[in-house]
Amino acid sequence: MAESVRSGMSNKVAKLSFWGVRGSTPTVDRATWRYGGNTPCLELVAPDGTQFILDCGTGLRVLGKRWAEIHGTNSIEAHIFVTHYHWDHIQGIPFFSPLYAGQNRFHFYSFRSEFLGRDSLKQVFEAQMAYPYFPVDLSAMSAARQFSEVTDRDQFEINGTRITARMLNHPQGCFGFRFETSAGTIVYATDNEPGVPKLDQSLRELAADADIFINDAQYTPEQLTTTRKGWGHSSWLAGVKVAQEAGVRNLVLFHHDPDSTDKIVDGVLRDARQKFESVWAASEGMVMSLGEERVEVIMPTTRGGLRQEGHFRARVTGYTEEGRAFQEETVLRDLTLQGALIYLNHSPRLQSELQVTMESPGDEGQNHNHLRFRGYVVRLEPGPEKDQTAVGIVFTE
Ligand SMILES: [Zn+2]
Ligand SMILES: [Zn+2]
Repeated sequence: MAESVRSGMSNKVAKLSFWGVRGSTPTVDRATWRYGGNTPCLELVAPDGTQFILDCGTGLRVLGKRWAEIHGTNSIEAHIFVTHYHWDHIQGIPFFSPLYAGQNRFHFYSFRSEFLGRDSLKQVFEAQMAYPYFPVDLSAMSAARQFSEVTDRDQFEINGTRITARMLNHPQGCFGFRFETSAGTIVYATDNEPGVPKLDQSLRELAADADIFINDAQYTPEQLTTTRKGWGHSSWLAGVKVAQEAGVRNLVLFHHDPDSTDKIVDGVLRDARQKFESVWAASEGMVMSLGEERVEVIMPTTRGGLRQEGHFRARVTGYTEEGRAFQEETVLRDLTLQGALIYLNHSPRLQSELQVTMESPGDEGQNHNHLRFRGYVVRLEPGPEKDQTAVGIVFTE
């Protein structure tokens, strides 16, 4: 389990956690469980401990539960950035439990919508919680709330983190935000479509030299030029182009389409990795730590269920972190119906696919019986022996 590193440790690390990565509407079907179904919500903890929240999709509810566990009745202060007012970016607000505790304090940042006028986000709160849409009155939200308006090209500082806001190309508008912390730079550019030269240039400037660049990758490059043109979203290929032109170090593909199954997102990630060295597909529960050396990525624990320890011989083929193909004989150490733990001499790439061929246990003599699995790498840790890697995989179709 990726535990929070809190500010008390006075490290020089910025920590970015993904609580919701799905675009448009939440999904609950099994075909999307691995990347996750909650709508956009990111948590950024700056090296000095300042808490930022980026967007208030349904992932915000889960973050609120986590904070309630950690903080109990201690007060929480956070700076919340709302990129725009489409449902998938505000849906979590009424379900964010820290808003109902008087000791907490929240600073909201968003833009003035031409459809709402002054105090746009405040109005969104009121409308969202008005009868008959929600049973609890806004007055129950006892946390202190402060609203600030940001406009295009604004730059300001919050406890040493420098923030830049840029308008992106999206129906009714959407803001991209750049956070320059002492540990490095994170750029969050959800909902945006390429094709308006001035705004494309603005996005490149926003993303310049970022350590982590999170970009809308809802559609395939084909959809983007045909059936989904003008819908306000981007593709992995457009994201790669911006990343290359802006000198980005890590690209995160974000805002997965509700109709994109895990298998489809796997394919998108594979395509993107052929064109750009360091790409990740945003995954619910994924944590990226930005320190002095490099970006460290931790995937969520997705392998539940009854764990069966064992010693199953297997052959594994896959790609190393450097992108070289490998094949290796090993044993599976434990096995559930969802995945397995294996020790390898190679270090495969996180979020890559391994082919595992297992001898069918208890089938001696009948040597044609093999079990074949495809596994998706979710965990890499030092193995028990030197130069070994303990590799956690989740089985895919
Ligand atoms: Zn969206
Ligand atoms: Zn939108």
